[in-house]
Amino acid sequence: MYFPNSISEVIPPQTVAAIMDTIERSEQIVITTHSSPDGDALGSTLALYHFLKRSKKQVRLIVPNSFPYFLKWMEGTNEVDVYDYNPSAAKNILSHADLIFCLDYNIPKRTGDMALSLESATAKKILIDHHLFPGNIFDITVSHPEISSTSELIFRLFLQAGKYDFLTKTEAECIYCGMMTDTGGFTFNSNNPEIFEIISLLLRKKIDKDAIYSQVYHNFSEARFRLLGFTLSQRMEVYPHLHSALLYLSKEDQAQFSFRKGDTEGFVNYPLNIKGIIFSTFIREDDGLIKLSFRSQHTFPCNEFAAEFFNGGGHLNASGGEHYGTFEEALHIYREGLKAYESKLKETMMLL
Ligand code: 5GP
Ligand code: MN
Repeated sequence: MYFPNSISEVIPPQTVAAIMDTIERSEQIVITTHSSPDGDALGSTLALYHFLKRSKKQVRLIVPNSFPYFLKWMEGTNEVDVYDYNPSAAKNILSHADLIFCLDYNIPKRTGDMALSLESATAKKILIDHHLFPGNIFDITVSHPEISSTSELIFRLFLQAGKYDFLTKTEAECIYCGMMTDTGGFTFNSNNPEIFEIISLLLRKKIDKDAIYSQVYHNFSEARFRLLGFTLSQRMEVYPHLHSALLYLSKEDQAQFSFRKGDTEGFVNYPLNIKGIIFSTFIREDDGLIKLSFRSQHTFPCNEFAAEFFNGGGHLNASGGEHYGTFEEALHIYREGLKAYESKLKETMMLL
């Protein structure tokens, strides 16, 4: 069994044993993840999906709603059930499961409309996640906010269970995609040397990491690229004295550039390129709600900002929230919130 001793056993060994034992004893396994699945959500769930399928298990993967086109290259995306497309079929699958994996989210609410069916399902539930404050509905909880992606946790689970040799290139690709996207291509949350030891183990499975980068980040439409240019030049407010910047897009703005889901992925990161900006916000008018994304640098807690003003949360440096009301209201709440956080923003900047 291959286990490099420089990679620590982050998941308690008895938890690894309990998960493998539960898998062994389950007949109908369902894997779930959060709404608007991102690279880590899909990467971690697909890796587990392939692993279980190859272990001769009956397994389904249900995501709450659709995912962006630049993630469709991952093997197995055509086998994923989308709850929103057929809620009654998905409910049926959930209610007949004897084991449900909950990956890359901490509480059922993060699965949107799927939450009720998830909570009422009688199956055993296993959480594998890296967000703060895990809920209490799970039979087994693997919650590690210090780990930068759920995909990394899935790799660690396989490794610790002695399954490294069993892994294929397909699973390795999904895991790498999740690790890469949740760290912005290893530009944040990625100073743990073990991340790079894990990457080296994934490369030994013959993944092409450069091709994966291209599939995800060099795959945008011309309209999306022009929308980015428009947003940066016409829809950006910079608050130098508050070390903050805002990007915002109304429905009308998006329609002008034939918006497709996923087109604005990553926009929120750009203002952090400006010298002296440590807090970036992106506000987008969506169908029936306003969606917010936050990114910060160093110790500024954008998850606290998201929780206080937009009923949201997430990680210290990457979080999100929602507003049910008008676009103008959301902009106003943001601007007021920024004033309330003035001293914290300045303090963080002073420490640099
Ligand atoms: P993104 O900006 O990429 O949509 O989200 C970044 C992170 O913020 C996600 O990984 C997730 O942890 C968190 N997040 C995004 N939207 C929400 C939300 O509406 N509520 C909560 N609690 N967290 C969110
Ligand atoms: Mn994640």
